[in-house]
Amino acid sequence: MTKRAYNFNAGPAALPLEVLERAQKEFVDYQNTGMSIMEMSHRGAVYEKVHSEAQDRLLSLLGNPEGYKVLFLQGGASTQFAMIPMNLLAEGQTASFVATGSWASKALSEAKLVGDTTVVASSEADKYMKLPDLSQLDLPANTAYVHVTSNETIEGVQFTEFPDTGDIPLVVDMSSDILSRPLDMSKFDMIYAGAQKNLGPSGVTVIIAKEELITESPKHIPSIFRYSTHTKNNSLYNTPPAFSIYMVNEVLKWIQEKGGLEGIQRENEAKATLIYDAIDNSNGFYKGAAELESRSIMNVTFRLASEELEKAFVKASEEAGFIGLKGHRSVGGLRASIYNAVPYESCNALVEFMKEFQSKNG
Ligand SMILES: *Cc1c(COP(=O)(O)O)cnc(C)c1O
Repeated sequence: MTKRAYNFNAGPAALPLEVLERAQKEFVDYQNTGMSIMEMSHRGAVYEKVHSEAQDRLLSLLGNPEGYKVLFLQGGASTQFAMIPMNLLAEGQTASFVATGSWASKALSEAKLVGDTTVVASSEADKYMKLPDLSQLDLPANTAYVHVTSNETIEGVQFTEFPDTGDIPLVVDMSSDILSRPLDMSKFDMIYAGAQKNLGPSGVTVIIAKEELITESPKHIPSIFRYSTHTKNNSLYNTPPAFSIYMVNEVLKWIQEKGGLEGIQRENEAKATLIYDAIDNSNGFYKGAAELESRSIMNVTFRLASEELEKAFVKASEEAGFIGLKGHRSVGGLRASIYNAVPYESCNALVEFMKEFQSKNG
């Protein structure tokens, strides 16, 4: 048997073992073509089938919402931080941002370089450990779009509800929780995600958007940065990251086999409950970093009494075969990233380890 680590990496992150094994089987000779998927033309029928299958599967998992298109782009979610304002923010308009943590801040900084921005809700005063209330958003009349980060990967806070922005497009960075639970797509005008947390390997960024948002783009920006270029060419304007898209298609098949988004959500909630219960039942030895109501089911952030003890925890966990439990360097503490592909057994093993560490150090 292959030895697999207890992988809690924040991204790139664990992939389903079944998917890796399937890919391994097809690696050298993809469906009797005598080559791998990486060695063939992206204009050929064999690759094009993978490409359109991945697009169809994504929409199907989201309930086939009408009027939405899927784009496969490169440059990660970070490139979208720039592309979104370049395409959607015109002179005389403002981009309204919800400031919830590290990734929302990065998205905001990039938009500022392109045009006018407004922060319409912020949890900075709570050190981003508690989500702001979005039920009464006061949006400037010239808002071009509202930008929200559904899950703050570093702080470990996650929205379960999204604001009703009426006719104003709602654009959501779902890099770290896309397809982790059912989504009512009618609420969103554009969602986007770098693939390397919940969808597959790095190298491809997925955009799911209402057609009207990505059909016409400003002509003063270079063609490669226009959504319209990629929409017109079905994400085949230039060479796509073929292997990453193939892997995304395989991950999507795996999600379908798990019972779709309802099935995945059930597992994700069970995993998160297991670890949060261990934190909450530790008599204060472990402390959840995020406020209770804002807790993420993807990135569990927690603390110990001192940084010294946290260091000892990380060291002991590594010796016991656990990977990736150190919190992000910007916030410190500990973090267990438990994306779709992290097995329940890994979470269970972590909880056992946490109890043991507490009994030795409590
Ligand atoms: C990881 C992450 C990003 C950055 O993604 P890249 O693909 O590395 O650019 C952006 N937003 C969120 C919420 C993330 O978790």
